Amino acid sequence: MAQAHTASLWARTATPEIDAPALQGQAQADVAIVGAGFTGCAAALALASRGAKVRVLEANAVGWGASGRTGGQVIPGLKYDPDELDAMFGPELGPRIVQAAGSVGDEVFGLIERHGIACDAAQKGWLQPAFSPRTLEIVQRRCEQWRQRGADVAPVDRSRMARLLGSEHYLGGWEDRRAGHVQPLSYVRGLAAAAQHAGAVIHGDSPAVALSRQGSAWRVSTPNGVVDAGEVLIGTNGYTDGLWPGLARTVVPIITLQVATGPLPDALGKDILPEGHAASDTRRLLWYFRRDAHGRLIMGGRAPFRDELVAGDARYARNAVDRLYPQLRDTPFEFHWSGRVAMTKDHLPHLHRLADGLWVALGYNGRGVGLATLLGRYLAELVSGTRPQDIPFPVTAMRPIVGYPFTRLAARVLTGYYRMRDRLEAA
Ligand SMILES: Cc1cc2nc3c(=O)[nH]c(=O)nc-3n(C[C@H](O)[C@H](O)[C@H](O)COP(=O)(O)OP(=O)(O)OC[C@H]3O[C@@H](n4cnc5c(N)ncnc54)[C@H](O)[C@@H]3O)c2cc1C
Repeated sequence: MAQAHTASLWARTATPEIDAPALQGQAQADVAIVGAGFTGCAAALALASRGAKVRVLEANAVGWGASGRTGGQVIPGLKYDPDELDAMFGPELGPRIVQAAGSVGDEVFGLIERHGIACDAAQKGWLQPAFSPRTLEIVQRRCEQWRQRGADVAPVDRSRMARLLGSEHYLGGWEDRRAGHVQPLSYVRGLAAAAQHAGAVIHGDSPAVALSRQGSAWRVSTPNGVVDAGEVLIGTNGYTDGLWPGLARTVVPIITLQVATGPLPDALGKDILPEGHAASDTRRLLWYFRRDAHGRLIMGGRAPFRDELVAGDARYARNAVDRLYPQLRDTPFEFHWSGRVAMTKDHLPHLHRLADGLWVALGYNGRGVGLATLLGRYLAELVSGTRPQDIPFPVTAMRPIVGYPFTRLAARVLTGYYRMRDRLEAA
């Protein structure tokens, strides 16, 4: 039985749910796609646009997973800075990865424009404000490395940062003008609708429960039907289950929580992010925040390690809002919700070929609005015949994390440690 969307700001304000009836009986496709988030829907759109017969199988509804719950911040780049990526991947692949990771803003906003997706898209830039002298130096170097590669970025000094954020809390930082934000559930529904328009068939309430080889094709089974397809793509990220043995153990899902105020009256909100930036700071347990199209303030940050929220779980976000914007101390949150972010051990997104004709992209480490959209397209290119070496991300073998049952414990311990380091560093 499909689960309803989590009660979020996005579920309340999104464009209408798209029609995606459950799979019944037997269907044939060139490509079957498991999961209808950004990864699955971007892949479906790219493939259907090339004339492939596509079936998408989603356990719940389009955008039910992280894609319908995110902060909607479209942020170029990876955890590693351009110089680090060049050093890690060498002079040929390194610059291609940097270029690709830097292009996600154009990828997302380009799709939105081409397909006329109504999702409050705003490519108005992203700020990374520094909360300590050490991290200020790091982001200044980061900005310089992108600037040397021709990106539209700029350092931001302390007083300009205070004006752009409407808060004196930070020491300065940098601005990436390639970035922006979207209403994420409307965006993923728009991708799905565009894929349908191009001929893809999308099934909600259709969990893939088994994958088997039938001669040279794959059979994907759901409770009430099967899809026989030459190729299968998996886009289940932090919600990966046991469909393919070991895959769930390649990522560590952590929980992040967001809160949203109601639309802020000018008296409270006119100085907060007046130019429409998104922002995420340099804390190890970062605060990420922005306004929505109706002037609400949305704040995100760490949450306890469980899917269901209980009263009091939003206190970390309350603390962040009160510290940044003391004028909002008495402004209640109208929404709070959470979801799973899939982290990888090497902090890189992963593209794997699991078997002949079976591919997966996952592990976006909190940058999936842009990266899942991009890697969804790369999956489509791979099944359309592009050679793995021509994709600007390494296609690697799947490697389940050794000692996986202990990773949650390790993540908890690390969270406590990071909180302490953040406190000491901010002091
Ligand atoms: C609260 C929150 C805030 C975030 N903020 C940001 C942000 O501001 N910027 C950013 O870039 N990233 C952010 N992220 C990360 C980003 O949302 C994800 O990386 C991205 O949405 C992943 O997309 P996806 O399509 O790969 O996976 P998902 O959107 O999680 O979709 C996976 C889908 O697979 C389905 N599924 C699972 N198993 C099966 C099965 N067996 N059969 C059929 N369907 C199945 C699930 O129901 C789900 O709908 C945030 C994440 C969260 C949770």
